[in-house]
Amino acid sequence: QEQQDLSRLRAQFPILAQSIHGHPLAYLDNAATTQTPLAVQQAMQQFEQRDRANIHRGVHTLSQRATDAFEAARATLKTFVGAGSAHELVFTSGTTEALNLVAQGLWAAGPGKAWLQPGDEIIVSGLEHHANIVPWQQAARMSGAELVILRPDAEGRIHTQDLQRLLGARTRVFAVTAGANATGERPPYEEMLALARQAGALTVLDAAQAVGHAMPALSALDCDFMAFSGHKMYGPMGTGALVGKREALQFLYPLRLGGDMVDWVSYEAAGYAQLPARLEGGTPNVAGAVGLAAAARFIDEVGRTAIDQHLHALRAQALAGLQAIDGISVLAPHATQASLVSFVSHDVHPHDIGTLLDERGIAVRTGHHCAQPLLDHLGLGPTTRASFALYNTSDEVDRFVAAVAHAIKVFQ
Ligand code: PMP
Repeated sequence: QEQQDLSRLRAQFPILAQSIHGHPLAYLDNAATTQTPLAVQQAMQQFEQRDRANIHRGVHTLSQRATDAFEAARATLKTFVGAGSAHELVFTSGTTEALNLVAQGLWAAGPGKAWLQPGDEIIVSGLEHHANIVPWQQAARMSGAELVILRPDAEGRIHTQDLQRLLGARTRVFAVTAGANATGERPPYEEMLALARQAGALTVLDAAQAVGHAMPALSALDCDFMAFSGHKMYGPMGTGALVGKREALQFLYPLRLGGDMVDWVSYEAAGYAQLPARLEGGTPNVAGAVGLAAAARFIDEVGRTAIDQHLHALRAQALAGLQAIDGISVLAPHATQASLVSFVSHDVHPHDIGTLLDERGIAVRTGHHCAQPLLDHLGLGPTTRASFALYNTSDEVDRFVAAVAHAIKVFQ
């Protein structure tokens, strides 16, 4: 029965049914980008073929249909992430843009006006993707605030007690991931967000690696800003969102100034529109928003609990397989909610492993996974990472483990 369900699911993803170097494709690079099901492709195609027009204020029928489709997508996604009535969703091109919108929005209004002022502190977890570090480095530089890192222990874990020690009257922002993409570590972000909020900080959650399978409802979290990407949850590339408390979003100076984000404009000045338009200057990716909403519906049909259980099982199998191979160590083997395994070999470079795996049709990612500070902190270089999605099979995990064992033997 399970096999049948999985075959039916896989049939929704035509890209998976191909051979690479004479082997069936085993796509295990889902933490970078997942594939899209037909339902997502069809929703976008239907929009392009029937409803495409620029949105907002158009009086003609297509413009109204496009506006309705865009706003319906917003509503679907708000429900999907468990947003409450105090939340608003701003469409972005992905997690990176969403986090930039927050970080830049908190300093761009300038001295005396912006949320961040000289002497303030920004605490950022040490597990973060570059997208949740580099914008904060710039925010600190531009505002005169200080960037403070919540450092992981030697196993790559961050601890609530350590955060407690860092929090103080000067803390204005705390940013953390819901799942570290380089190691799979799942920090205790619920408690951390609550502590930071109690200390008076604005809280930022990078949900890129969690939103598609393992996230509490946003309204249950002490979270002011949450960022995610469409292409990591079976949706289109170049889509995503920033979901935030309305009162927190009000603090953000808009990143993109121009059409669609203003109520009136004279040659000298402009009055900015209300949320969410204020933060959505320019023509948005409407087909992308429609596709992203279709991805959310697809995930809900399969069920996030079922997806999460499937990913857990695949990860446990991969972990056990890798741990039985001499000469490699898996990062964050304790990780509770990971959907990936990341490992280093003592003798073989990840690039060689990745190339050999590709020869057998197995797609994994090698390198620093845009998390160089964390890997440096752990005293590690590049890693090999296999990451799972709802369409992966236990057979693919077997092939992956066997291919790694083979690669280690060949190169040792
Ligand atoms: N944060 C995390 C945890 C990620 O895994 C990624 C993508 N690898 C990003 C942020 C950046 O996402 P995007 O490239 O879609 O903006």
